[in-house]
Amino acid sequence: MESSKSYQVLLYYNYVHIEDPEGYAKEHLQFCKDLELKGRILIAHEGINGTVSGTVEQTEKYMTAMNNDPRFADMVFKIDEHEGHAFKKMHVRPRSELVTLRLEDDINPLQTTGKHLSPKQFFEAMQEEDTVVIDARNDYEYDLGHFRGAIRPDIEAFRELPDWIRKNKDQIKGKKVLTYCTGGIRCEKFSGWLVEEGFEDVGQLHGGIVTYGKDPEVQGELWDGQCYVFDERIAIPINRKEHVVVGVDYFDGKPCERYVNCANPVCNKQILCSEENEHKYMRGCTHECRVSPRNMYVKEHDLTEKEINHRLELLGESMIQEA
Ligand SMILES: [Zn+2]
Repeated sequence: MESSKSYQVLLYYNYVHIEDPEGYAKEHLQFCKDLELKGRILIAHEGINGTVSGTVEQTEKYMTAMNNDPRFADMVFKIDEHEGHAFKKMHVRPRSELVTLRLEDDINPLQTTGKHLSPKQFFEAMQEEDTVVIDARNDYEYDLGHFRGAIRPDIEAFRELPDWIRKNKDQIKGKKVLTYCTGGIRCEKFSGWLVEEGFEDVGQLHGGIVTYGKDPEVQGELWDGQCYVFDERIAIPINRKEHVVVGVDYFDGKPCERYVNCANPVCNKQILCSEENEHKYMRGCTHECRVSPRNMYVKEHDLTEKEINHRLELLGESMIQEA
């Protein structure tokens, strides 16, 4: 009998020219479905970016087949053990870019990119003087966990990062710049953009946070909190030497590493929230979301109007009167 742990989650990317992204996406979707993998893969002229789950056998077959394709011969897979699939479906989508920076002049990371630093080199570089560490991810990813002392650009999406850097150049000018992201793909482009922008000493964490956490020597040291991942796991541990919680509950500010989506499907905002507060606030991020007629929490728990009113009352709120 197969053990429940005999699944793996793969995370990978490769910047390489792909001739016909649409055609290849179709063909690749069929290939993944035949292997019974689940996950999400993007295909663009500039390469591939994917994360899939499957049994050890299925994922091993996939990696072998991919590495046998000359375009992906040296593609590196980050592998995590998991209990069962980490996705519900299998998607392969053609895209114009692998990561959305929407630059006036696009960066080809095969030509221009920051220095690739191993986990050990990155660990040491972070502690050098006159060095700034910039998190190249979105705000909600940073809020769950990040490198100690890293700058949190005040952005909601990766494509806003170049603008943010230009506006905050004074913080960075004349310093050594280090940048990191989950698996490394965003930094390939972002660090290239920094080089083009005139920053002279730019380093990127090769293989991303995920690789840093697996490195036998650094063992994730100087990482605080957990790492946000784009599958059903949501959060994975990185620092194997100590665990410092940096996430805080959206409602009461207490330490918290549990992400939920606001129960109002129109909002769907991701918030860190304890189980207790999920019930207390009916998983609504605002009063409007709590009393939304489409509130999923209310549906999941079959709350009667009386119960809804009771919980609102405890919060000092009441149903909005229809105009
Ligand atoms: Zn909401």
